[in-house]
Order: sequence, then C-alpha cells, then structure tokens
Amino acid sequence: IAPDTAPESAPVLAMHNIRHAYGHHLAVEDVGLEVRQGEVVCLLGPSGCGKTTLLRIVAGLEVLQQGRVELDGVTIGRPGQAHVPPEKRNVGLAFQDSALFPHLSVLQNVGFGLEALPGRERRKRALELLDQLGMARYAESYPHMLSGGQQQRVALARALAPAPQLMLLDEPFSSLDARLRDRIRDDTLHVLKRVGAGALLVTHDPEEAMFMADRIALMRDGHIVQLGTPRELYCAPVDPFVVSFFGEVNELEGEVRQGRVATPVGEAPAPGLADGQRARVMIRPEALRVVALEEPPADHHSHVIMAKLLGRTSLLHICAHAGDGRELHLHARVPGVFLPDEGQPITVRLDTSQVFVFPAAAGA
Ligand code: ATP
Repeated sequence: IAPDTAPESAPVLAMHNIRHAYGHHLAVEDVGLEVRQGEVVCLLGPSGCGKTTLLRIVAGLEVLQQGRVELDGVTIGRPGQAHVPPEKRNVGLAFQDSALFPHLSVLQNVGFGLEALPGRERRKRALELLDQLGMARYAESYPHMLSGGQQQRVALARALAPAPQLMLLDEPFSSLDARLRDRIRDDTLHVLKRVGAGALLVTHDPEEAMFMADRIALMRDGHIVQLGTPRELYCAPVDPFVVSFFGEVNELEGEVRQGRVATPVGEAPAPGLADGQRARVMIRPEALRVVALEEPPADHHSHVIMAKLLGRTSLLHICAHAGDGRELHLHARVPGVFLPDEGQPITVRLDTSQVFVFPAAAGA
C-alpha cells in the first residue's frame, strides 16, 4: 500500500536508542521514536512489553540508563547528565490512577498547574478545558462527588491546562465502561487536536490505538516491532505477531508456486517468497466472502457449522471443501444481517487484501 502522508511538523519528543533494565530484567531495548507537534502516537503491545517503562522515562519518573531523550529539540536526558525531574519537564501526565486533590474543587484542580496566570485568566482557562471535556457544570463540585469517568475527565483537563507541548497518557480510559470510554476517547482526541500538543498514549487495546493514533508503535519484549499509521499496521503487517495482535486469524500452511499459495478457498499472493518454499498463510475472518447457495449441486460440501449474531457482524464457523477432497474449518466474519442456518450450503471466496503470507517457521 502507498504510505500515508506523514505530518511535516517538528518533533516535540525524540527518543534515541533507549535501553532500560530493572535489575537483570531487560524491559526496553534499542527503542527510537519521535512524536511530532499535534501528533498522537500510541505505544501498543501485550502486557509487560515495556510501554509504561518508556512513558515513565520520558516523564522523568525513571532515571535514564542508556540512550537519549529530547523534548522540543533540547536534550533533557542523557546518561551522566543531571536528571531533570518530572515537574521541570513541560509534559502533561494523565495516568490511569492520576488522583485528583480531594480537598480542592474541580475548578481548583484544573487550575492547579496555572499559578503563573492571574486569577481571572486561570479560571477562564480551566473552565474552557472543562467545557471541552463536558465537565463545566461540575466546576464547583469536589472529586468525591464525581463518578470514576468524570474524575478521569477532570484529571485529563488538569494535565492539559498548562498547554504542555507533550501529553503522556497511560491507559487513561481503562477504568471506564465501554460506552463512556468511546465518548471520552472521542472528547480527548478532539481536545488534543485542538490544543495541538503531541501525545504519547499507552494502550494494550488495538482498537483504541487505531482510533486515537496518527501512528502506532507496536511493541513486543521491549522492542518496537512495527511503527506506522493504523492502516500500515493493519494492511501491511511486517510479521505474524502484528497480524495476530489485531485479532483472531485463520492459519494454514501451503507451498509457494509461481508466487502464489493455493488454499481450499482460493489463491493468495506470496510476495517475497521463493517457489517451493513452505508458507504460513494468515486469513483474517473478514477476508472470507461467504455466499449462501440456494440450490447446491449434489456434490457440493462447503457449509456452515455454526453461526452467531454478534450485532454489527456475525461470526460463522464454516467447513470449506477443497477440490481434492480436503476439508478445512475456518472462522468467517460477515455483516450481522447475514445469519445462515447450520448446515447451509455456501460458497467461499477470498479477499486477498486481508490475507498475509509469511515463510513457515523452520521445522514447523
Ligand atoms: P502493562 O500493559 O501490563 O502495564 P507494560 O507494557 O506497560 O505492561 P512495563 O510496565 O513497562 O510493561 O514493564 C516491562 C517489564 O518490566 C515487565 O516485564 C515488568 O514486569 C518489568 N517491570 C516494570 N516495572 C518494574 C519494576 N519497578 N521493577 C522490576 N521490574 C519491573
């Protein structure tokens, strides 16, 4: 696919060759990453892959062990250089457990980092942010009077109030229920884009990353596996881990012939693989185009094993028969309006844009 156009603005954060260990445990290795002005970059990956460690290094909550951190073109972290504490870095922090000051009102909480402004200005700026996050009418409330989601929005407004050049957000929506989460994600993205700050956001949720991010850095075991736009990661994954991280896939093996691999449901291109090579074929459930057959020929065998309506989509377990008599069980995801009966004869075709072919693991 053609690369998405990259924003041209200057980096507000640059990390070079970051390595970090806790005792003998290596948490982050050889990480380089930039966040440009107005850009949201998501650190995505499974639990323990080093996302929070990277954020804490940028925030100054961990002392840098190896590598270099630049904020707005100025090196603020380099081993041997004096550690710059979090409050001296122009970054806004919104962590999952960001606590509000219980004895201050919502308005005072948001105005907390704005002491430099005269009282009226401070109030105006705080109210403006509360308004943008739908919280203006709670300005005089105290934290204990708010729900968890409301408290998170106030914490976010407080972090954004001093107009930091960089926002660091660590799973900021994780304690919200699904419906509220969608709304607050939406509001947060809106405010970040309006303020024009760069943002580095940690999440383990691929959908959240795809919604929030201009670019995603997908991590595994302390390394960045792939860095790119949501579309690049979803549509041009560099390895099987990246494919699997975005959801369940059907997997099978085949042999490359004339640049293609044959599967019982159709052929897929195998770019970069040699003829005769064993290939690992990864088929996203939505790549299977399933059509009900009203009058199947007598020798037709492909059929639906099970169908579940999940709302917008239905999940089908299907049995696909190849010409050579082989049968294959696959999962297909189809629009929710299509809910065939068990046993329904079908034909299956392949949308190869959602099929990914890699060399089969040696010895597999
Ligand atoms: P999660 O999504 O679960 O928060 P993460 O990707 O943010 O995970 P980190 O919190 O950065 O991962 O942790 C990376 C690795 O370092 C993990 O293996 C973790 O157990 C380890 N680790 C993190 N903090 C410490 C610490 N203070 N002392 C020792 N080991 C730590």
